[in-house]
Amino acid sequence: MLKDNLQKLQENIKSVCQKIGRNPEEVILVAVAKNVSVEKIKEVISLGVTNIGENRVQEAIKKYEELAHSPFPIPNYPSSITHHQLPITNYQFLKWHMVGHLQRNKVKYAVKIFNLIQSVDDFELAEEIDKQAKKINKIQDCLIEVKVSPEVTKYGCPPGEVKELILQINQLTNICLCGLMAMAPFFDNSEEARPYFRQTYELFQKIRSAFSVQCSLFNVLSMGMSNDFVIALEEGANMLRIGTAIFK
Ligand SMILES: *Cc1c(COP(=O)(O)O)cnc(C)c1O
Repeated sequence: MLKDNLQKLQENIKSVCQKIGRNPEEVILVAVAKNVSVEKIKEVISLGVTNIGENRVQEAIKKYEELAHSPFPIPNYPSSITHHQLPITNYQFLKWHMVGHLQRNKVKYAVKIFNLIQSVDDFELAEEIDKQAKKINKIQDCLIEVKVSPEVTKYGCPPGEVKELILQINQLTNICLCGLMAMAPFFDNSEEARPYFRQTYELFQKIRSAFSVQCSLFNVLSMGMSNDFVIALEEGANMLRIGTAIFK
């Protein structure tokens, strides 16, 4: 079932990309596994998924540890992973994404396991990430979460303040800003999400041209969930965060 869901989703992504003339290989699929068991996570990994999203640090750590101590059961691991990167006894090749709101007191745990923190929305949080990353000698990849709609969540940086936040974060040594994350409000008709995604894409492009030197790695646009990923793709997303459509 999970296999069918994933296959259907991947075909869907491919056909949208074909329709709009984009390369589906440029689109990263993050399987959002909040409230999903480790067994199911192992199953999607065995089907080739390498990016796992979580929205709570505690839950993520538990699963991370469990996987780290699991035997590696996959004979046909994804071909994108070269042999020298592949540990025999655990899942080190996985990329973990923090997609939920990050509390400052959890940052010291988050930097230990997450490859990409997608929810940076103010400078105090960024400073704490920088400080904790420094302690473990890590450059932490992050996205700025943009609050494109006042009604979606309490969190996110208002679009008008994103540039200023980037300027501030660029002063920090142990954060690498890789792009933007945004969430559109839920609509029964996903077409209505389009203006929110379009606005985020325009902001993304504006930032990329304004900061071309400092932000040479600023190339991730994370938007689109189970109900609206088609629209997000059409509007330029290159990272999708999908939970329900895979794990339902
Ligand atoms: C849960 C979640 C998702 C995935 O949502 P689905 O509708 O289940 O695909 C994506 N992004 C964030 C931030 C989430 O919390």
